[in-house]
Amino acid sequence: MKIARVIVDVPSSQTNRLFDYKIPEHLEDVVQMGMRVIVPFGPRKIMGFVLDITSETNVDKLKNIQDVMDLTPVLTPELVEVGKWIAETTLCFYVSAFQAMLPQVLKAKYDKELWLLAEPEELTPTLDQLFAGRGVIPYEELKEHNLSYSAIQKAIQEGLLEVHYNVNSKETKKKETFITPGATMEQLEEMYVDIPSQAKKQKGIIAYFLEEELEEVRQKELLETLGTTRASLKPLLDKGLLQEVHKEVYRDPYQDREYEATTPFELTEEQSTAIKPIHHSISTKQHESFLLHGVTGSGKTEVYLQSIQHVLDNGREAIVLVPEIALTPQMVERFKGRFGSRVAVLHSALSAGEKYDEWRKVQRKEVQVVVGARSAIFAPFENIGIIIIDEEHESSYKQEDYPRYHARDVAIKRGEYHQCPIVLGSATPTLESFARAKKQVYTLLSLHKRMNEATMPEVERVDMREELHAGNRSMFSRSLHDKMQERLQRGEQTVLFLNRRGYSTFVMCRDCGHVMECPHCDIALTYHRKNERLKCHYCSYEEGMPDKCPSCESESIRFFGTGTQKVEESLQQMLPEARIIRMDVDTTRRKGAHERLLTKFGNKEADILLGTQMIAKGLDFPNVTLVGVLAADSLLHLPDFRSSEKTFQLLTQVSGRAGRHKLPGEVVVQSYTPEHYSIDLASQYDYESFFQKEMKMRKMFQYPPYYFLTLLTVSHPNHLYTMDVTQKMSQFLREQLSERSVILGPTPSPLTRIKDRYRYQVMIKYRNEPTLIKVMNRLFQLYEDDVQNKDLQVTIDFQPYQMM
Ligand code: ADP
Ligand code: ZN
Ligand code: ZN
Repeated sequence: MKIARVIVDVPSSQTNRLFDYKIPEHLEDVVQMGMRVIVPFGPRKIMGFVLDITSETNVDKLKNIQDVMDLTPVLTPELVEVGKWIAETTLCFYVSAFQAMLPQVLKAKYDKELWLLAEPEELTPTLDQLFAGRGVIPYEELKEHNLSYSAIQKAIQEGLLEVHYNVNSKETKKKETFITPGATMEQLEEMYVDIPSQAKKQKGIIAYFLEEELEEVRQKELLETLGTTRASLKPLLDKGLLQEVHKEVYRDPYQDREYEATTPFELTEEQSTAIKPIHHSISTKQHESFLLHGVTGSGKTEVYLQSIQHVLDNGREAIVLVPEIALTPQMVERFKGRFGSRVAVLHSALSAGEKYDEWRKVQRKEVQVVVGARSAIFAPFENIGIIIIDEEHESSYKQEDYPRYHARDVAIKRGEYHQCPIVLGSATPTLESFARAKKQVYTLLSLHKRMNEATMPEVERVDMREELHAGNRSMFSRSLHDKMQERLQRGEQTVLFLNRRGYSTFVMCRDCGHVMECPHCDIALTYHRKNERLKCHYCSYEEGMPDKCPSCESESIRFFGTGTQKVEESLQQMLPEARIIRMDVDTTRRKGAHERLLTKFGNKEADILLGTQMIAKGLDFPNVTLVGVLAADSLLHLPDFRSSEKTFQLLTQVSGRAGRHKLPGEVVVQSYTPEHYSIDLASQYDYESFFQKEMKMRKMFQYPPYYFLTLLTVSHPNHLYTMDVTQKMSQFLREQLSERSVILGPTPSPLTRIKDRYRYQVMIKYRNEPTLIKVMNRLFQLYEDDVQNKDLQVTIDFQPYQMM
């Protein structure tokens, strides 16, 4: 008798274990480890993952597996292990970990179909009968025909058939209205004359089509650009001058592109030195983690490409992780250009169906290279030869939702299994990674020089206190203004960077730059508007809002924050002739907007690109010769112990955007404390000194990498109850954990209330706490009932990055 051991899709602690099911005879040759099956569970039938197949059980009354959901396992044996490990180390349910590793399509309930790939003659008579001359049949017909699944499975393996998930549902396909001319341009021109001149708006619309020679434009974009409404468009549609079409907007953004093939460069001496140990690790099949530290433009990507080539030559596979936001067509092009159709791209801009298609290429071994954002780390390759994480310092590699895994940890785990190298690349590695490299846990590889003798652009730091004292109250310094003006005259472009959109939480003196900080935690205090108080959200320290600066007695001390929209307005006022593109969460919410705005800027249809974080990465425009950072302070004083590190990373990155080509670049950083070490050292591109200095601070205030952090967040609609539970939990932790661990809180989270739920947190700082996971598990069990029945939410993060 064959028995399957199954993890069922019921995320709760009682069910977070293996359940045994009998494999019925007709499925005996079919069920494999890593497949999804349907099993009876209580009164219901639910999905489960088969983790093991055995012949023994101590369950008396075994129930049968009802059916299989896959004919090919969706998880490899290795990924099953990785999933278990994620569940155990991040404290999530097994089933949630497995789900997180699979494409969306496999999580939802989609119609399944069986597609015929081969010619009917190639089929066995039974299969031929099944298809009965059709190319596609509903999966359900399989059951009606009483066919053996193993025959189907064999046919799939032989490439005769495939299982197709029908994802043409509303969520995955989105239609939008486009407007196209209903006549030729000549005819339009004639008709234009006929429109009465009172119908200004209508004339404007036609003129727009004529001037731009538009063949098609999104209705929304058209109305927005011309500042008009559907009412003006309607008569033109009625007359047939214009037409509307409804089109599907999601599609593979890379599909229609042709990629120019590139050949490997002859490596520079530095590159050769760096690549040798990677090649060695590949050839000898020995796992090793490398930290490739090199400024932007020092040739890191070329090192990746040639390492991958070596891996492919050895018949193995490669995973490349790139931050979501840097997964630009430019980036993709470099990999597709070198490896062509051997590359799959996993990108969130793809629809669920497209993502699944890319994933399937990996599963079927049709590609050998995957380039993708965080979740691409779960690519179901079985013979991995290298895993590369570009811009390893990016916090987006940490999943902030359940399960809270870090792609870097998963990469190392997989690297150990496959005995292959892991390459972490960055111009500004995280302190954690660089410290590990210093301790030789990672092997450090350095590229010091930029390619083609290029130098990093000159950085000017502007003191905004002095601007104020000189009577300049605007958010642009005189120097930045003059430099932008110059760019306008010379027809060159400017990128202006503003941290976040209008979101900041700290209080600062405009006269002397003093920021209100917690005396215990070295982070800025968070301003609470409601009761005008300043609170530390690491410990429970709080104080009233001062009416004078404690440092210089000035009364210009206040809350700090400006939104991109406001900046855009004053910029336009100051430079009326400038054409500005604003890029922030608002203007890029729509799919494809991000790329479209960038293309527009790249085509020099604007002089200034103004934006948040999202413009800092991966952009490469030859005509940009000036980069301005408007308020470095808003980054520096995030309520986060990593704020100095983030500032250093970001300034280095934005500086890398200027003068990448023939024209020399300049950078202006505006701040109220330009002497701060992270601004000062970033402007000198001195990573090593920054590392030394910041490590001292981390040691002094007991932060990573010297200490580990764990963050417990509790939320509930009732304020008192939330406080009370958090208080009890922190008490429990104090009793259970060792005395050397520091337990901070309970304290309100920086975002104290989200969607009518109050949020409190406890932070644990520790060096060595071997029982932490056990203790947390116990804590969860203690409150399981409240979680199930009282709407309590408890989250735990063993590696918090966003402490909001
Ligand atoms: P990074 O990834 O560190 O920012 P890149 O790999 O993008 O650096 O290299 C910067 C530029 O130099 C790119 O245009 C790249 O094509 C070019 N380049 C890289 N390596 C070489 C080489 N060995 N010889 C000539 N050009 C190179
Ligand atoms: Zn002051
Ligand atoms: Zn504090």
